[in-house]
Amino acid sequence: MAGPPPKSDKVADPSAIPSLDRLLRSAAAAPLVEEFGRAEVTRALREDIERLREAALQGGLGAGDLAPDAIARRAAALLDARAAPSLKRVFNLTGTVLHTNLGRAPIAEEAITAMAEVARGASSLEFDLATGRRGDRDSHVEALISELTGAEAATVVNNNAAAVTLVLNTLARRRQVPVSRGELVEIGGAFRMPDIMARAGAKLIEVGTTNRTHGRDFEAAIGPATGLVMKVHTSNYRIEGFTASVGARELAGIVHARGLKLFVDLGSGSLVDLARWGLPHEPTVAETLAAGADLVSFSGDKLLGGPQAGLVAGRAELIARIRTNPLKRALRPGKMTIAALAATLALYRDPDRLAERLPALRLFTRPVGELDALGERVRGPLGAALGDQFRVEVRPSHCEIGSGALPVEVLESRALGITPASRRGGGRRLGRLGAALRALPVPVIGHLRDDALWLDLRTLDDEQAFLTQLVRLAP
Ligand SMILES: *Cc1c(COP(=O)(O)O)cnc(C)c1O
Repeated sequence: MAGPPPKSDKVADPSAIPSLDRLLRSAAAAPLVEEFGRAEVTRALREDIERLREAALQGGLGAGDLAPDAIARRAAALLDARAAPSLKRVFNLTGTVLHTNLGRAPIAEEAITAMAEVARGASSLEFDLATGRRGDRDSHVEALISELTGAEAATVVNNNAAAVTLVLNTLARRRQVPVSRGELVEIGGAFRMPDIMARAGAKLIEVGTTNRTHGRDFEAAIGPATGLVMKVHTSNYRIEGFTASVGARELAGIVHARGLKLFVDLGSGSLVDLARWGLPHEPTVAETLAAGADLVSFSGDKLLGGPQAGLVAGRAELIARIRTNPLKRALRPGKMTIAALAATLALYRDPDRLAERLPALRLFTRPVGELDALGERVRGPLGAALGDQFRVEVRPSHCEIGSGALPVEVLESRALGITPASRRGGGRRLGRLGAALRALPVPVIGHLRDDALWLDLRTLDDEQAFLTQLVRLAP
């Protein structure tokens, strides 16, 4: 709204408000109609007229507010606000590389290109080009998944929660599923193993104790009503101290001796040994299958570094049964997911270049020296934009990989630590600064800790865009 009009300017007569029709035909509205379309502009103008009427009735209407230019200006602000998407790119400087609330893995250029290509028009999604007959959308990724994991067969659904639900519903409906008590995980946002189990129609049998589960506990829990035995990767926590758990190999031995199948929910499910890049070792999908798991499920957008998806790999006979479950149809991924996943998996065929081409791995492996140099380059401009109310310094920090991968291990990193210049009211000022950073065209998301706002640099990969928008910062 324009500022308060001068007193002498008051007009209280609503009949002085221009008509919608006149406004729509005004020169000031023309560029708006061009940009936003007639329907949207009509709606915005109507809203403004409504507000003018209210103001007139309350005697607070200024003649200046009625000028078509002023009305168009206010309508433009409204239209801009309505047109801005709420789902937008942000700078994730939280210190969690794969942040679930911020969309997890950044995907590779190759995957983006593949996605755009199939998005534009028709594709061979479920069409066999060799025979001209109907095909299967899994076919575009199944061979690659098998090649990379040693699995006989594989299928893909919308996410790993869907994969787990589908496996349990297919292989253990109305049957018991023993799981170690130490593995009954909740993975943020209402994914709780006992609840999923119930929805899938399977009966959870809790085995062992929270900190210790032995092979003999499983032997005692398995009986004629057992449908499947499950092992869950404890993604986002670790039980330390006096602990015991049954490894995949030992558990597979126990399960197979009784003619049953072992399903492992790996959560993140790395396809390669991260130790190759100096990162902590995570059990890979190939290792887990080699240890005897009959099925393994894992996410597409965690360590794998691809689009949101849930992958199931393992025995061909079990995958075939999963494919015939009607739920599979309900949980299937779209063509863009399949395209992005296939392109991402293809990058794994060349592990030597993986850290260059897979953005998630590139972020995990950025050398600290590079982050130091980056910090020194952006510290000055950020300090200047913040003025003398704040101090900015490059500080040592620790990053999490996130999304439940490697929960305890952290990556050495560097962050910009922002502290208020004076202690009084510092907390409030930091809160306001956080809000101002989130209000930037590309919102910047940091995290508050120890009376400072931390912007972690490991995930800052578009330095130029970050610097360019600092002039807009109004802390
Ligand atoms: C992340 C995770 C899931 C859920 O995967 P989504 O792809 O987010 O649906 C399930 N199980 C485990 C062990 C996980 O870590």
